[in-house]
Amino acid sequence: MLVIPRRISHQESRPREPNARKAAARIHRLHGEGIAVSEARGSIRLEGEAASYGEKVAAGWTAAGFGFKGVVNDIVVAGVAEERLESPAVSDGLLEGAYFDVVVIGGGVIGSAIARELSRWDLSIALLEKECDVAVHTSSRNDGMIHDGFAAKPGTKKAAYNVRGNRLWEPLCAELGVDFKRPGSLVLFRSPWSAALYPVLADRARRNGVDGWELWSRSRVAAEEPNVVADQHGGFFLPSAGVLSPYKATVALAESAMMNGVRVVLNSCVTGLDMDGGSIARVLTNRGACRAGVVVNAAGNWADVVAGMAGDRFFSLHQRRGTDAILDASTASSQRHILGMPDFLRMHSRTKGGGLVPTVEGNVLVGPTASESPGREDYATRPGELAELEKHIRINGELSMSQVITYFSGVRPCTYEEDFIVEKSDRVANLVHVAGIQSPGLASAPAIAEDAARMAVEIASGFTATRPRSGWRPDGPASPEPRRLSPDGRNALIERNPAYGRIVCRCEEVSEGEIVDAVRSSLPATSLDAIKRRTRAGMGRCHGGFCTPRVMEILARESGVPLWAVTKKGPGSELCVGPTKGARS
Ligand SMILES: Cc1cc2nc3c(=O)[nH]c(=O)nc-3n(C[C@H](O)[C@H](O)[C@H](O)COP(=O)(O)OP(=O)(O)OC[C@H]3O[C@@H](n4cnc5c(N)ncnc54)[C@H](O)[C@@H]3O)c2cc1C
Repeated sequence: MLVIPRRISHQESRPREPNARKAAARIHRLHGEGIAVSEARGSIRLEGEAASYGEKVAAGWTAAGFGFKGVVNDIVVAGVAEERLESPAVSDGLLEGAYFDVVVIGGGVIGSAIARELSRWDLSIALLEKECDVAVHTSSRNDGMIHDGFAAKPGTKKAAYNVRGNRLWEPLCAELGVDFKRPGSLVLFRSPWSAALYPVLADRARRNGVDGWELWSRSRVAAEEPNVVADQHGGFFLPSAGVLSPYKATVALAESAMMNGVRVVLNSCVTGLDMDGGSIARVLTNRGACRAGVVVNAAGNWADVVAGMAGDRFFSLHQRRGTDAILDASTASSQRHILGMPDFLRMHSRTKGGGLVPTVEGNVLVGPTASESPGREDYATRPGELAELEKHIRINGELSMSQVITYFSGVRPCTYEEDFIVEKSDRVANLVHVAGIQSPGLASAPAIAEDAARMAVEIASGFTATRPRSGWRPDGPASPEPRRLSPDGRNALIERNPAYGRIVCRCEEVSEGEIVDAVRSSLPATSLDAIKRRTRAGMGRCHGGFCTPRVMEILARESGVPLWAVTKKGPGSELCVGPTKGARS
């Protein structure tokens, strides 16, 4: 969403010489003498105790300003337990003894995009994901916005990857058959004072290389967006901002990678890395240990833990939660652009302005919020966060909280420098880190993937011949969507296969045929959420109230499991407890 910098006038930050003495003095002054500060392999390390997570994170931010390679924040917080990586219960030895030229850890949008880029090369590649599907974590819990690139701090990796990624997404979506729209983003001015900042905003957009921007007068805003509240003072329009479905895009990237030879292994959690000298020799998982020529760490909120498995924990991640509300699809026509009305007086480089995003499917997304909060996978929503979203809804006079059909939260994995890490490891010869991919990570994904894949291929060229894969295909598998067809096209499809005529999800008009396709696809949907990500069944106004039992039946039938074994999101989330008298198996 709209991100507004803390200072309106930005100086690109100059790298500083690491200075542990100065860092310690400042940390002690601001955060107390109890925090031990040391230098470890080029990074700054903090130890001690903090009363709250906010204090721990604040100390990490302070440490980030002293020119070290990274901040390793080992401060413990009273009452907050160290989180443990949990492996799925599968232990079938599937990966035992296998060899891959490249192993990518993490099936979010970043790992899936990297796997697809790597698939252009004639290498053996595995994408290991601990969950029962791709896009289970942050990559399905975001706003789906392909940011223009204006908001990122000039000179950062975030800024460069965002602008490059923004240009790459549209052609990539065309290849993958994923919807992409470019509504543009309108940053509304709430006062004449904010409107006067236009030259500064334009300068920042220019420095980041953003593709186009315009100053819109009050009357232009009123003409383009008649439902926007009257007390606006014009706006800063960024036409390059786009939207897509982040989970559909991630699934499509993974499927495209599979079509080009990548082995996507779900339910496979990397639990350790066996080292041989300065290289990773074996990747240990719950499904056995495999050998790997190169390892790419794209583990999202666990990337610092994975780095630690290789003895290369030069950074720590802190978690920034974000909550969004989804409005009913009937709101779609109430605005044309992505809208936000930030308060420039409260702007901050680390927090999002938030706003109203018309999604590619026709809903309006409200949010996200931003708050530092422990919990790498804590997706509970809090009443206070929802209340916070109301301020955005007020921008558009046609919207109200009564149109909210559901809400969700996600967790951004952030470094203390608040920038991405996309680099070969300094210490481990065959490791590439792609970490700290907070927002705008979705927007940046295709550009990050190009660079990370290039780095992995460079390492691989040291032990194998690297040549392009012959017959590489840019597209992904396509299955028909009857609701998008003309009446004649739909009739012809139903004649060929009547399952496309049996509507299961009435809100989103999803047919049985589409659900069957999702279960039978190359990356099969094995849970209700996985069906949702592929077909949208259950994502409409009733939010699965009507279609859930029917989808469960189809899933059970097609996967050959009893109804009570069907899960919402993998083992442990079964919807039924077992058969009752006379139940069908
Ligand atoms: C509320 C919110 C809104 C956002 N909005 C936007 C937006 O509009 N635009 C934008 O550009 N960005 C946005 N972002 C940021 C964007 O969602 C992330 O940058 C992006 O999804 C990160 O992708 P990822 O693949 O790195 O992480 P993830 O999607 O979390 O993927 C990492 C994967 O690694 C797996 N994994 C972890 N450890 C292991 C292990 N040991 N073994 C095997 N697998 C492992 C996890 O299960 C996970 O699936 C938003 C984020 C949030 C929270």
